[in-house]
Formats: sequence, structure tokens, C-alpha cells
Amino acid sequence: MTNSPFKYVNFIQSKYFPLENFKCPCEKCKNKEFTWEYLDPKLIQKLDALKELTSYNLVITSGYRCEEHNTQIGGEWKSAHTRGQAVDLTIQPYTDFSALRYLFMLAEQVKFHGIGIYPHKRIIHCDVSNRFQRWRQNRQGVYIYLFVDE
Ligand SMILES: [Zn+2]
Ligand SMILES: [Zn+2]
Repeated sequence: MTNSPFKYVNFIQSKYFPLENFKCPCEKCKNKEFTWEYLDPKLIQKLDALKELTSYNLVITSGYRCEEHNTQIGGEWKSAHTRGQAVDLTIQPYTDFSALRYLFMLAEQVKFHGIGIYPHKRIIHCDVSNRFQRWRQNRQGVYIYLFVDE
């Protein structure tokens, strides 16, 4: 049995980020067709709005993930990435933590639902899942939650 991924009928295209940037990087997905239908339009809309607030060069380090890839890399079970509702972002060239903190505040401004900051990985996670939560991952990989609101 194949569990084919959910597709969004009301999908939109990003104005700033090419589709390739969101594609699952695993071997299995490499030669598979990938379309905007796999990405929640709310994610794209907020991501574009975020981009418009800053002149930083934003880079997507992780977008859509198939379930297998998500498990392989130790992603959270049923992660928002597997539903096309999340991206991990960094700034290139990366300067220092204050830039990442600034990005976190911009993500707050455009009202992403879940926002996480990973200082040692130099990324922030932004999602439009049903959970409103804020967290930080420390050096030991432990998640520290500011709040979780389901
Ligand atoms: Zn994959
Ligand atoms: Zn993430």
C-alpha cells in the first residue's frame, strides 16, 4: 500500500523561491515529479511575505520531506515538513546569532504558526501546522519550549 502525499488544490507558486528549493533531497524522491501542489499555500504566502521584510539572502535548507527521509534524518514524527507545511531557513552569508534572532522575529511578524530556532545549526524552522508553538533547540539537541498551544 502506498500512502500518497496530500496535495493542495488551492496551491500557489512562490514569487521568490524556485520549486526545486522545496524538493525532498532523498534518493527515492530525486527522480520523482514534484509540484507546488505538495506545498501548503499558507506556507508560500508567509514565506514570500517574510522575504519582502528583509534584504538578507534567505536560503531554504529543508522544505518538503517524504516520510522516509524525515525519519532518516531524525525529524519529528509526522513533522509539518512531511505535509508541505514547513521550511527551515538560514541566512547566507551567515554572520552571527543576532541575524538568526532577527529572522525569528520576522517569522513572528508574518504569523507563522510554529517557529523554532536552532542556533548551532544556524537555522530557524517556520511552519503553518495547526499547532502554535515556539521553541529553541540547544546544543545537546534538547528542545526547550516557550509555549505549546494545540
Ligand atoms: Zn524523499
Ligand atoms: Zn524544520
